[in-house]
Amino acid sequence: MNKIVVIGAGTMGNGIAHTAAASGFETTLVDVSSEILDRAVSTISANLQRGVDKGRMTAEEKAAVLGRITPSTDMQTPIAEADLIVEAIIENLAAKVSLFQKLDSVAKPECILASNTSSISITKIAAATKRPEKVIGMHFMNPVPVMTLVEVIRGIATSDETYRLVEEASKKMGKTPIEVNDYPGFISNRVLMPMINEAIFALYEGVATPEAIDGVMKLGMNHPMGPLTLADFIGLDVCLAILRVLEDGFGDPKYRPCPLLVKMVDAGWLGRKSGRGFYDYRK
Ligand code: NAD
Repeated sequence: MNKIVVIGAGTMGNGIAHTAAASGFETTLVDVSSEILDRAVSTISANLQRGVDKGRMTAEEKAAVLGRITPSTDMQTPIAEADLIVEAIIENLAAKVSLFQKLDSVAKPECILASNTSSISITKIAAATKRPEKVIGMHFMNPVPVMTLVEVIRGIATSDETYRLVEEASKKMGKTPIEVNDYPGFISNRVLMPMINEAIFALYEGVATPEAIDGVMKLGMNHPMGPLTLADFIGLDVCLAILRVLEDGFGDPKYRPCPLLVKMVDAGWLGRKSGRGFYDYRK
């Protein structure tokens, strides 16, 4: 496996392209406009420069990594040549299904189609293609160059061979792949989101302040970040959407999102990205 195409050059896509290129893969980064791609390449360059400044890589190595990334808006040639395609576009089922149908019609038969989705069913995405055995989840964590986990999600039809090749590619990228099956929230969000939701319920019920809730989890449970700080970092809209996937997928009221979370999202208080969440980032 040598040629990787990453589709979607946002937060996750640029991190995945950075990591793939730094691990020696010939990488094409695809998005809908050259402005978005320019921004992504500048971000990757700035992130690599931090490594140079800290003495972790040389300027030549940085140039070599950037040299292995080709930004492109072409949905034909790079797709047709790819060995592995990693999709990191918006978290929307219809958008992903339509993209996977297109990829399926252009990619060579042996090409593996992976999705970086946080919560959408891999089985459902795979069913939209004629190669469900070659569709798999590669759930990288943010920031991708730093976080070592790849949660590898097997849809109902994913073959052992596809899993093996993705496991190998993940290891080559310096990551630790962990195998999970395709059920709502996989493992990461099935465990994380109820914890975040419970922290929000504790705040909603006046049990403690945000600082106290986060302090207990940091000092008492050795979490590097408290659950409310983490929710602000992830985005409260994203947390709410994932809780809805758990609630709908399992039909179990234990995943009911806290009314305070719903209200904050309604207010546009989405965490760091909007300047305000459980904490104020406007100053
Ligand atoms: P983002 O909004 O930062 O980037 C998405 C990019 O996809 C945008 O640049 C957009 O122009 C592009 N795009 C949209 N439709 C496209 C199409 N049809 N073809 C090509 N490009 C298209 O999103 P993100 O935060 O990077 O998330 C991407 C995916 O990764 C989502 O599925 C998300 O659930 C998942 N994810 C996100 C995180 C996170 O912390 N942000 C963590 C793990 C997984």
